[in-house]
Amino acid sequence: MPDVLSAPLVVEFPFTRSLGPVQSAFLTGLRERTVLGVRTGDGKVLVPPVEYDPVTAQEIHDLVEVAATGTVTTWAWNPRPRRDQPLDTPFAWVLVRLDGADTALLHVLDAPGPEAVRTGMRVRVRWAEDRTGAITDIACFEPYDSEPGETAPHDGEFTEPVTGIVTPARLDYTYTPGRAQSAYLEALADRRVVGERCPSCRKVYVPPRGACPTCGVATDERVEVGPRGTVTTYCVVNIKAKNLDIEIPYVYAHIALDGADLALHARIGGIPYDQVRMGLRVEPVWTEGSRHPGHYRPTGEPDADYDVYKELV
Ligand SMILES: [Zn+2]
Repeated sequence: MPDVLSAPLVVEFPFTRSLGPVQSAFLTGLRERTVLGVRTGDGKVLVPPVEYDPVTAQEIHDLVEVAATGTVTTWAWNPRPRRDQPLDTPFAWVLVRLDGADTALLHVLDAPGPEAVRTGMRVRVRWAEDRTGAITDIACFEPYDSEPGETAPHDGEFTEPVTGIVTPARLDYTYTPGRAQSAYLEALADRRVVGERCPSCRKVYVPPRGACPTCGVATDERVEVGPRGTVTTYCVVNIKAKNLDIEIPYVYAHIALDGADLALHARIGGIPYDQVRMGLRVEPVWTEGSRHPGHYRPTGEPDADYDVYKELV
């Protein structure tokens, strides 16, 4: 049996979004311990609010303050909280219909165990100590027996409204490559690039996925490609990425390695960013201790003729 490769993989980026008037009022309201919904054309109150009526698509902005108490409409127990979840002790994910609302809000309920949670139970908001204008201003919900609370119209006006939020998105998982990708990674460890040829259309895929997406057949003929290649297209990156120690501007390019029928993408170095061009011939620059080339640099050969790589753009 071959060794099975496995590695932790994290895909993470902060997503910055600006808020329209309705979302701005909702999140600023949370900062001020006020839960706002929006009334639709047929009189329903939506919490969390949206900017457009889901039935008629009309723009809606008629804000309503609902109660900070409500009823659990459904739930699921989470026995093992993960990093950055609202509570670090086991909790229930709940949909809560706040008093005065017709829709339910997804949040978490602090409860000692699943036996303490049921659909129909009464709950209330537990406000976070430090509130910034985010859904996490509601720290969680907690069990609370009470009569249904009241609603009241609200003008949505606050001092220093929140106009934008940063939402971190993070996926972390353990990745286990299949047969084709394992062979590709093992060859990379020897600084060789190995693709697979489709037995039907004869295309060489790099990196290989084990099957041809066009013909739908398994690919098992290994073909060494590169190491040199041709820039088929590229972009100049002017935005500094967090946690990435590369000076901007820099060039990220699609590179067709010699013998490959699919371009891979990599950074181009060793040449001023404004001199990179389609057809530029490049070669990998390997980084000590890394399985992947750190970047590609010009070989000094004449540029490739467009006809040679036009099918790969
Ligand atoms: Zn094929």
